[in-house]
Amino acid sequence: MSTCKGCGAELRSGQLVCLECGTRVTDARKKISIELEGTNSLAFFFLGLLFPQAGLAIGVVWNKDKPHAAGGALAGFFVGGLIQGFFILRALFWT
Ligand SMILES: [Zn+2]
Repeated sequence: MSTCKGCGAELRSGQLVCLECGTRVTDARKKISIELEGTNSLAFFFLGLLFPQAGLAIGVVWNKDKPHAAGGALAGFFVGGLIQGFFILRALFWT
């Protein structure tokens, strides 16, 4: 939990303006970490695409700690799982 630099009021995470005094909340570190997480989610999407099982595991384990990465990994899991399932079914039933 962070506090407002202007009045010291408690700020909720993700809050952009202090509700007590109207001071804008600028947290540079938070911005950078969000940008990094955006890159992560794309990287983990491709990881889940190539290794659906790993994507599922990451998506479940990081669901709370790193929602962006977990979301990307889960999206990769679904797409990668569909592609993998398609090839498995085709190998089984394509005669
Ligand atoms: Zn304030």
